[in-house]
Order: sequence, then C-alpha cells, then structure tokens
Amino acid sequence: MKIQDIQAIQELLATPKKIVIIPHRGPDGDAMGSTLGLYHFLIKNNHQATVMAPNDFPNFLAWLPGSETVKIFEKDNENCTKILEEAELIFTLDFNAFHRTGEMMEHTLKKLTAPFIMIDHHQKPDDYAAYTYSDTSFGSTCEMVYNFISFLNKKEDIDKTIATCIYTGILTDSGSFRFPGTTGNTHRIIAELIDLGVENTQIPVLLFDNSSFSRLQLLGRALQNMKIFEEHKTSYTTLTQEELDSFNYVKGDTEGIVNYGLSIKDIVFTAIFIENKDEGIIKISFRSQGGFDVNQFARDHFNGGGHSNAAGGRSETSMEETVKKFEDLVTKLKL
Ligand code: 5GP
Ligand code: MN
Repeated sequence: MKIQDIQAIQELLATPKKIVIIPHRGPDGDAMGSTLGLYHFLIKNNHQATVMAPNDFPNFLAWLPGSETVKIFEKDNENCTKILEEAELIFTLDFNAFHRTGEMMEHTLKKLTAPFIMIDHHQKPDDYAAYTYSDTSFGSTCEMVYNFISFLNKKEDIDKTIATCIYTGILTDSGSFRFPGTTGNTHRIIAELIDLGVENTQIPVLLFDNSSFSRLQLLGRALQNMKIFEEHKTSYTTLTQEELDSFNYVKGDTEGIVNYGLSIKDIVFTAIFIENKDEGIIKISFRSQGGFDVNQFARDHFNGGGHSNAAGGRSETSMEETVKKFEDLVTKLKL
C-alpha cells in the first residue's frame, strides 16, 4: 500500500465511525474470514462495524467468531440498505468489482457516497475505491488483512479471535497451504497466528470434517459423472439440479468437489458444472495446475474470472449445451 493511503486511512480510523464490511456473493472461507477478522479489529478500535454479506454463507463457516452478527443483504434488504446509507466508510473484501455482490446489492452500492476501501487479491480491480489495496501475488485476502492491520501499526491488536478468522481464510484459499501464492511469509504469519492461540488442528476439522452422509453421496455422484480428456489433460464433471435435490443438497455441499478432478495423475485442467434452476444458470468452477490460466479461460468463454489457477463462471444455456461448448473448447487445447 502507498504510504499516503496508509496515513489517510489512519486518519479516517482515528475517530469512531459507522463502518460496513462486505464480502463477495457466495462468500467462502477467505471472504468470511477476512471480513470477520477486520470486523473484530474495528470493534476493538471503537468503531461501529457491521459485516454485510450479499447472500447467506455456508454452514461450515457458521462457527467463525462473530458470524452470528453478519447481516444478509438479500434477506433483510430494507434494514441493510439503511445501514449502508448511514455508513461513513465501506470496506469491500475479497472481490474486485461491484457486480461480484450480485445485481441487487450492486445497484445499491453504486448509489452510495461514503468512501470505499478495497482489499483484494483478484486481477483487474475496478476503480470505485478511494483506497485500493489490490495484489494478485497474495494467496488470500486474509493474508492481506493481516498486512493491512500491520501497516496501520496495530499488529498488537491481533488477538486469538482475529487470528482465528485470518487463519481460516489463509487455510481455505491456499488449499491447505499448497497453492502457488503460499510463501515463506504466509507460513511466518501462520506461525504467529498459532502462537496467538489459534486452534490449528481443530479448525480443519470444523471446516472439512463436517460432511453429512448425503453430501458424501453427492460427492460420489460427481466422481461417477466425471469425464476425462486424457490427450488434453483435462477432466470435468457435472451435477444437475435433480441430482442435487436427490442428495438433499444444502449450501456448501459442493464446496471443494472440483479439486478431485485435478487429483488424477497428469490432469492439469478441470471443471465442475452445477445446475442452479432457481437462478436459471449453470455455475462453473475451473481449476488448473501449472501454467494454464483459467481466469482468462473463464473470462473469454464463460462470463467469469478469478485467479490463474482457480476461477469461476456461469452459463445461461442448458447443461447439455454448456458442456458441449466446454468439450469443443477443450479439444482445441494443447496443455
Ligand atoms: P469458486 O470456483 O471457488 O467459486 O471460485 C474460484 C475463484 O474464482 C474465486 O476467487 C472466485 O472469487 C472467482 N470466481 C468464481 N466465480 C466467479 C465469477 O462468476 N466471476 C468472477 N469474476 N470470478 C469468479
Ligand atoms: Mn480469496
């Protein structure tokens, strides 16, 4: 961050303010960890802070400290709009453009006059923020929140609660410390967080070992649906709405399934196509290993984006048509 920006933010935060902190729609571990970590820090510094998510967060994150205070914009529109209009400062975390909050919230955010601060690690940040801390070299927004607090000279404020939130996002967005972007610095920060009392052996249990039996069966179906294009080092799988319904799908159940497609030897590109009848779309997740840039692929072909090894997109055509389009593209790839 620029030194002038840090000084300006220090001044802004010198007196108690009404602050709203917003993660992206469909918030994940990094989005919730970073917003709640910052929330506890701001509360500790006498601000009136609110975390406001565009829509609900998955159940496997409901143990995060402070998650019970999170307001959901799409559920409580009137009250949330009022809180936003009264805010004196707005943080947007773990996303790079208003549209990542969904149509409904985007519309409201565009009309606000309070200054925005963006902290994010996605490519091509929009320029709506008065202060932008954007850097794609970081594996998680949580690691950037740790830095942000350090830049403000407030590292001593990081207690077990804040550390727990930050730890969670670093863990989930780094694929348990294995994705590129995981650096020596990341591990040094993790070590400090553990020294602050973070329960580092318990958090993965809370996050990952909490499946229902039906969720595991849904995973089984996704694995059975998987197709391999050996020549193109690509795999993909699908889950239709009917399949989701038959396994009593609840939010969060499909989290992480996409990664299985990369666990096959020599596969470097994978995707999962998940039908959402309510929204009339196929939601897509892309993952790659090595040099193939799935962010660009998602931008070029599926109205999406993300990072070079993990991105998402959507399609408004049927599952069949979407998968056909993907297969046609894949057979032209030389990976
Ligand atoms: P996931 O596949 O886990 O939903 O998302 C992987 C990464 O891609 C995340 O960083 C997420 O923010 C980003 N991403 C997912 N869906 C979209 C999308 O529709 N548009 C854009 N721009 N990014 C997305
Ligand atoms: Mn993130």
